[in-house]
Amino acid sequence: MNILVTAAEVAPYAKVGGLADMTGALPKAWGAAGHDVKVVLPMYGTIDADKYSLTQLEGELTVPFAGHTEQATVLEGKLPGSDVPAYFIRSADYYDRPGIYGYHEGFEDNDRRFIFLCSAAFELAKALNWSPDIIHAHDYHTAMMMPMLKITRQSDPHFANSAGVFTIHNMAYQGTFDPQRAMTFANFNPDEFYSGCWHEQDGAFNAMKSAIMFADKITTVSPTYAQEIQWTPEGMGLQSSLQARGSDLIGLLNGIDPSVWSPEIDPFIPVPYSLDTIEKKIIAKTALLKEGGLTDAAIKHDLPLFGMVTRLTEQKGLSLIIDSLEEFVADNRLRIAVLGSGEKRFESYFNDLSRRYPNNVLVGTGYNEPLSHKIQAASDYYLMPSKFEPCGLTQMFALAYGTVPVVRAVGGLNDTVHEYDPVTFTGNGFTFSRYLSGDLRDTINRALRVYKQRAHWDRLRVNAMSSHHWISATAEKYVEVFQWAKERYS
Ligand code: ADP
Repeated sequence: MNILVTAAEVAPYAKVGGLADMTGALPKAWGAAGHDVKVVLPMYGTIDADKYSLTQLEGELTVPFAGHTEQATVLEGKLPGSDVPAYFIRSADYYDRPGIYGYHEGFEDNDRRFIFLCSAAFELAKALNWSPDIIHAHDYHTAMMMPMLKITRQSDPHFANSAGVFTIHNMAYQGTFDPQRAMTFANFNPDEFYSGCWHEQDGAFNAMKSAIMFADKITTVSPTYAQEIQWTPEGMGLQSSLQARGSDLIGLLNGIDPSVWSPEIDPFIPVPYSLDTIEKKIIAKTALLKEGGLTDAAIKHDLPLFGMVTRLTEQKGLSLIIDSLEEFVADNRLRIAVLGSGEKRFESYFNDLSRRYPNNVLVGTGYNEPLSHKIQAASDYYLMPSKFEPCGLTQMFALAYGTVPVVRAVGGLNDTVHEYDPVTFTGNGFTFSRYLSGDLRDTINRALRVYKQRAHWDRLRVNAMSSHHWISATAEKYVEVFQWAKERYS
């Protein structure tokens, strides 16, 4: 199958969150399974062309845009560890600036930047004389490929048999644009925007709604989230559109790439370990505490270590943490290692806590790939009390590293973490349902009790490490959806 993947983030080139992990890993898995996959993303100013051996394609791409045409150049590389080609759309006007989206409110011209990317991706496929069977778009950034496929590209023979599949990674970011601008940039007839049309939501152009309505099939990143977005406020206003497309919507759980996230081969951790040698985790724990400035005497006093690697936003349950964490560290009942960047108020909270409890709270800021691996290996527990969580990858990394997740049972967390039952010895973590700090506190207490009960603790870690969510299984499920999307074209 010919699969064209277009996204704003693709690991390892450009990453903010889990979207990049998936758009980096799925194409590799499809490529390995024999599919012809091409990945398209912007050439951000932060991508190092030399590091990834990117070479510029000859000539320029002429991109229809806003009623005229614009030029872009294209660089090509291979997704590291694979033969899958990645194409980088270079336009100094749009992408050659610091950051991917623009902190904190987003760049003012994100509508223009990402609609241009969508149009350029179609043109690139044509320039390569390559017809995709599937056009796979991700989140609001490339959502516009779905209406474009049906409105402006329908009569183009290159795309006559292309089906559109739209994957929702997070409903919280919908691409709410000025209608006049969005319709113009996309080369849609502005008269076709009206109240109640497929692009419209609350008077604005909503890229995500448009993709939901125009895609052949829609996926989201976990079965629970697929239900939540249709039937609860997690649909963030688009519930009725999602319900309307309910028979074409499916939740496919994300997976993790074992070539990147396995303690058996992880180059960032001090000593490799596996299920059979899980006791070696203590080496990673000691090393991290040392790196965090703890003395040997302090390290000797063993306390359970909680880890967090996260964007610091309300979504990740930070209000609950602020309400409940301090009493545990003040009583010297646990340590926590946090790696996060995001909202300043949350960064200040952790920095302040770390100043006051230097032996209990270790904080890393900024984006730090090696440290994210070290924390996963070093921690006993992984804390993720999210307010909402479409899928969540870090709890899956934690499971793979024998690190026991303590999570709120929402979205993908509900699909991957199950409460440990000391009677049946089943379950791989600790969960709670209501978004209440008291419930988080109780759950941490439950988790801490098991740490001291050797037989349960050993079993729990084995259960965690045996919970596999590999990307290869996810990739196969996507191919089934692609076949489903193609049915009407065959
Ligand atoms: P989300 O996509 O909502 O941010 P996920 O759990 O799906 O959450 O994915 C987050 C990804 O980003 C994981 O790969 C995680 O390791 C990574 N990550 C988050 N913050 C950092 C950071 N500060 N440094 C390194 N990696 C990070």
